[in-house]
Amino acid sequence: MEKPILWIVIPCYNEQEVLPITAPLFRDKVLELVGNGKISEKSRVLFVNDGSSDDTWKIISDLSREDDHYLGISQSRNRGHQNALLAGLMEAKDKCDVTISIDCDGQDDINAMNEMIDRYHEGCEIVYGVRSSRQTDTWFKRTTAQGFYKVMNKMGAETIYNHADYRLVSARVLEHFADFKEVNIFLRGMFPLVGFKSTCVEYERAERIAGESHYPLHKMIKLAIEGITSLSTKPISMITRFGFFCVFLGFIGIIWAIVMVFLNMTVAGWASLACITLFIGGVQLLSLGIIGEYIGKIYLETKQRPRYIISDRTWDEKED
Ligand code: UDP
Ligand code: MG
Repeated sequence: MEKPILWIVIPCYNEQEVLPITAPLFRDKVLELVGNGKISEKSRVLFVNDGSSDDTWKIISDLSREDDHYLGISQSRNRGHQNALLAGLMEAKDKCDVTISIDCDGQDDINAMNEMIDRYHEGCEIVYGVRSSRQTDTWFKRTTAQGFYKVMNKMGAETIYNHADYRLVSARVLEHFADFKEVNIFLRGMFPLVGFKSTCVEYERAERIAGESHYPLHKMIKLAIEGITSLSTKPISMITRFGFFCVFLGFIGIIWAIVMVFLNMTVAGWASLACITLFIGGVQLLSLGIIGEYIGKIYLETKQRPRYIISDRTWDEKED
């Protein structure tokens, strides 16, 4: 069997501090795997610049000029991690046999790639990198992140526990994945839908080598809402069920009120009435908001705008 060509796909947004440190690590990993005879020497490291405002793209172009193992593409503007990764994967799928996506900050243990490639050779087409512990994250990040997965699953957006976007995917799966045309993308929840033989590989997550996280709490909440509303309609059915429950309570209340009138025991319950009105009003607003989220999604989907726009490629530069 011919050795598979591996492309490591790495989204980068304002990563000038960390990129010069981690880029050689990725290249060395490719060289090591080539040396072990597990992958073809045509394997590459592909950086996706997500419209960075710092020197990230300059660093990527310099790297690609100095060493053929590095390639880069640039998005025309910042579109977010998921779109950047999608751009890289779609670019890679025609040029390689298997991809591994990973963040560029060195938090995910690149040594897990050996095991991922082994699993690939055993016939797995998707291998999910799963964090075995979160010792190095702060208590706050750890708890919020774990809450994130729990809420996601409860809401019907099935995701693999503690799996982010460190993942091996074969070009064959990507070929089918390209048929998922939605613009609201949440990759880690979508790959399980493609199917094919898959497995998990555990690794320890380290601290960021340099630079700062781009995923503070508010972005995590946004990602969770994005994930839930683009993968599941469970929140809408929960609203319906809650609505039925409220109607049922109201019905009991009416019966109770009538009985009280007949017993001549009317109470001065203005305060409680006001509370209930407020509560129901709040529930209605929240429900409208959730339904609005879905309508907004439908609106965005009907536009069918491009999911990514690539403005530069390092290999185009070289041909000039
Ligand atoms: N990233 C990106 N576009 C963005 C934000 C982040 O391409 O708008 C990249 C970033 O460069 C990194 C990865 O996505 O490679 C994960 O981001 P980060 O490390 O900041 O998130 P965390 O690991 O803290 O969740
Ligand atoms: Mg990170």
